[in-house]
Amino acid sequence: MHEAVIAAAIIHALKNECKKAGIKHLKRVRLEIGEMRNVVSPYLQTAYKLGIKNTGLKDSRLYIKILPVKMICGGCGVPVKTGSKCKKCRGFGVKIASGLELKISSISGE
Ligand SMILES: [Zn+2]
Repeated sequence: MHEAVIAAAIIHALKNECKKAGIKHLKRVRLEIGEMRNVVSPYLQTAYKLGIKNTGLKDSRLYIKILPVKMICGGCGVPVKTGSKCKKCRGFGVKIASGLELKISSISGE
């Protein structure tokens, strides 16, 4: 269950962010996670809740947004589907434009 590892990393990052922003009671955390990370949101929620017990973050809630995978052609940059040739330049080089994100997009508290 790699969600536990991700939750631990997020909690660590949040502690630093709260310190920087002067937040004492963190309420809301918005996360953006790419589909390719294979994160199961309920597992991450559970791992997060366990991880924030007895910490200053214990009243915070996670809002997880899963971002879909997007592939673009490495040659010309138009969107392409996995495993298919680019319609525009006939190239096969595919780049991942989105789907690997793992970031805290915003936090709020007081
Ligand atoms: Zn192309």
